[in-house]
Amino acid sequence: MKRPHTLVVNLNDSRCGACGQSADPSELTHATRLGYQPGAGCGERYVFVTTDYSDTGGLYDRVRAMRPDLTAEFLSTEDPPPSPAEEKVVDLMAALEESVNEAKAERDRHLAARAEDPPGGTQ
Ligand SMILES: [Zn+2]
Repeated sequence: MKRPHTLVVNLNDSRCGACGQSADPSELTHATRLGYQPGAGCGERYVFVTTDYSDTGGLYDRVRAMRPDLTAEFLSTEDPPPSPAEEKVVDLMAALEESVNEAKAERDRHLAARAEDPPGGTQ
């Protein structure tokens, strides 16, 4: 959906509502396109700021605080996906860390077993 003159700020990216390309959320106009193909933006002048997410964890206030120079306009007619709660992100990080540690422990056990019982067998 095209949103002229709108800077769309999300949790892990931001984009220009006019052209849909990624944007630097600190710029006054869409001067820079970020991402895997960085370059010049479309030059759209931002008047509004919004986000794709619902107001979870004070997100709307944070977006407003980020760009007090812009008029904050949040979706009310659509049903945006909820943003992940911060505790959930922490849980995910912990789970990831745990699985990495488990994989390391598994590898260490495997290496230790091989050291005790070298390939080729005992003589
Ligand atoms: Zn643009």
